Amino acid sequence: MRRTGHVDVWKTATVVSATQLTPSGRSLVLDVPGWGGNLAGQHADVRLTAPDGYQAVRSYSIASADAGDRLEIAVDRVPDGEVSPFLVDAIEVGDQVEVRGPLGGWFVWRPEETEPVLLVGGGSGIVPLMAMVRAHEASGSTAPFRLVYSVRSPEDAFFAEELSAATGVEVTWIYTRRAPDGWPRPAGRLAAADLQALEAAGVEAPSVFACGPTGFVEAVADTLVTIGHDPARIKTERFGGA
Ligand SMILES: Cc1cc2nc3c(=O)[nH]c(=O)nc-3n(C[C@H](O)[C@H](O)[C@H](O)COP(=O)(O)OP(=O)(O)OC[C@H]3O[C@@H](n4cnc5c(N)ncnc54)[C@H](O)[C@@H]3O)c2cc1C
Repeated sequence: MRRTGHVDVWKTATVVSATQLTPSGRSLVLDVPGWGGNLAGQHADVRLTAPDGYQAVRSYSIASADAGDRLEIAVDRVPDGEVSPFLVDAIEVGDQVEVRGPLGGWFVWRPEETEPVLLVGGGSGIVPLMAMVRAHEASGSTAPFRLVYSVRSPEDAFFAEELSAATGVEVTWIYTRRAPDGWPRPAGRLAAADLQALEAAGVEAPSVFACGPTGFVEAVADTLVTIGHDPARIKTERFGGA
């Protein structure tokens, strides 16, 4: 796995598969000749061009961490958004977009890292964390990995089946609006008590990666610092929005 050069060059990407993940989310696998792989946690810029020449560019985290010329992105539809409704509802297998990247060298996890890791994702913020979970599993890493994934309801979880089956990562689900029947934790936003409960379970001084909507990430980072985490060990990726 490597971070390739020529990241500022737009490359043509062909959609080779499109899978509905949730009512509002869709995974797209793109074939990009010359892509050359990415690190877990990096993102790509996607550029759409309308028939009249108008262009729109948005960033999307990469869910995959392979060495080849394919990458997976997973997009959640932002109501009234310009780009995400097109990627979730309209683009089809065989269609083309342009991509640039991989981008970002800080919010990344490398398989040679051995320290415990705490991943905290809100909504589509799971995407770069999924790349880390996949890279961790594929490399056979024994670094302790724990994921806290906050979603509105079970139906809103990206990659739920894969996460349930993943080895080497312990997943804590936080449901903010509707929990499954019989779920011990009532639905509600991620709180200090949830994160403190992890520490009671033995996760000490991990390296943290938190990702999701801006408000979610800020709340998580503030809470982690309040309960004693070293700010220098908390890395964040903000997707925008509330
Ligand atoms: C580094 C990075 C990685 C990202 N990775 C992903 C990803 O893996 N999957 C993904 O779905 N999105 C991701 N995003 C967000 C993505 O870039 C777009 O912002 C998002 O898809 C909305 O674009 P849009 O054109 O549909 O909406 P716009 O037309 O740009 O915005 C419409 C309205 O929605 C608000 N808004 C913008 N973004 C969001 C948001 N994320 N949540 C809620 N409201 C928002 C805006 O403030 C505006 O009011 C990432 C952003 C960054 C910076």
